[in-house]
Amino acid sequence: MIAEISNRILFPLNCARAGSLDILQYMKEFKASQFLSSKELDELSFIRMKKILEYSYQNVKFYKNLFDAYGVKPSNVHAPADLQSFPVLEKHHVQDNLKQLVAKKICMGDLVLDRTGGSTGAPIEYYFSKKRTRSIMAATWRHNGFVDWHIGDKTAILWGASRDIPKVTMKRRLRNLLIDRNMFFNTAGFQPNEMIEFDKQLKRFRPKVIQAYANSIGLFAQYFRENGIRPFSPQAIVTSAEMLTPENRKRSEETFSAPVFNRYGSREFGVIASECKQRDGLHIMQEGLYIEIMKEGRHLEKGETGELIVTDLLNFAMPFIRYRIGDAACWKQGTCRCGRGLRRLSNIAGRTTDFLLGADGRLCSGAALTVALAAERPSLGQIQLEQNEQNRIICRIAPKKGRVTVAEDKKYLVQKVRQYLGERTLVDFEIVSRIEHEPSGKYRFSKSTLTNLFQVN
Ligand SMILES: [Zn+2]
Repeated sequence: MIAEISNRILFPLNCARAGSLDILQYMKEFKASQFLSSKELDELSFIRMKKILEYSYQNVKFYKNLFDAYGVKPSNVHAPADLQSFPVLEKHHVQDNLKQLVAKKICMGDLVLDRTGGSTGAPIEYYFSKKRTRSIMAATWRHNGFVDWHIGDKTAILWGASRDIPKVTMKRRLRNLLIDRNMFFNTAGFQPNEMIEFDKQLKRFRPKVIQAYANSIGLFAQYFRENGIRPFSPQAIVTSAEMLTPENRKRSEETFSAPVFNRYGSREFGVIASECKQRDGLHIMQEGLYIEIMKEGRHLEKGETGELIVTDLLNFAMPFIRYRIGDAACWKQGTCRCGRGLRRLSNIAGRTTDFLLGADGRLCSGAALTVALAAERPSLGQIQLEQNEQNRIICRIAPKKGRVTVAEDKKYLVQKVRQYLGERTLVDFEIVSRIEHEPSGKYRFSKSTLTNLFQVN
């Protein structure tokens, strides 16, 4: 009942008061356009891509210089393949050229400054137009709607990045009580008493949805199961910020008796893709983002894993054109049974800096390998792989309490690593008391300092 009032009355009233009624307009538009055919959606996003390319060339000094240096012209783009010759926007470009990336005639009052968490390097700062922050909010609610999660529904948010947790003010508290209805739970630590507290809070709050870091919810599920705790069962669990492994999905679904839906997003673009109820790939936010998957300078179409290149189609204040976001994925073929025409990613293979390079040049998803190692021998504890040179891997182990890593375990790990990365691979071991999370609160299965493994350009 309260959810209905929030959704239909309080949220629109609040938008009117804040001068942001276009959120409702975007929500209406995205709700309808998701059911266009895939051909229509491909056309729509390509037309928007050409428009922002042309606009950026005319209005953004950085792109004018960059495109001229590459000898490419937006007016020569007639088909998606023509985009391949355009340069990629790197994080260091944004770090070094913030002012030059802002479009002409944009007044500073219309800009919203934001920054990334810098989980794999220095953080970057960038601007959104205020209008773009509103279309991103509408996009998020459209994707939430995939799993019947609507404005006003109670949501428990299990989050690792404390800066995302809003500071409590009187106004916020009131808004939260009436509209947002969120309960935040910081997962910076995983002490048993904190997990028990989370369970108690869930049972009191009774959320419809739990939104969580994928590894956090997996760890909580494991703890509850091992300790015979039956946690509150929400209608849905939506995971994001980290790669969702099949093991974490299964463990969380069994323990919470609720379906888990995977989502992929970033601070620069908001929600990028998420699963619908079919859980058969992640539908992309195609009306607002143009996604390319690239390897060795060419677009990949079918089932092959490559690097994600993202263009924001609606941020006219500071356009992100062909941005190397740092994650790898592949396209899912065919149409979804839900009837939405939005293209799908079949999975997110992890950060490109999480990939490991085999002795023969093959690329291996470090996350998948780590998960395979741990799944076959769960008694080992947590494992993280690190690569700083080809043919050499550091295998970091945080053994389970009371367990000693023995020669037999090391032999098993060496054999497995060589099976995936080649016989010549050397394996060094580090035994640690715990595997630290990144400053962003994310957990990384593997990391590599080798660069440009996908050779986009
Ligand atoms: Zn679907």
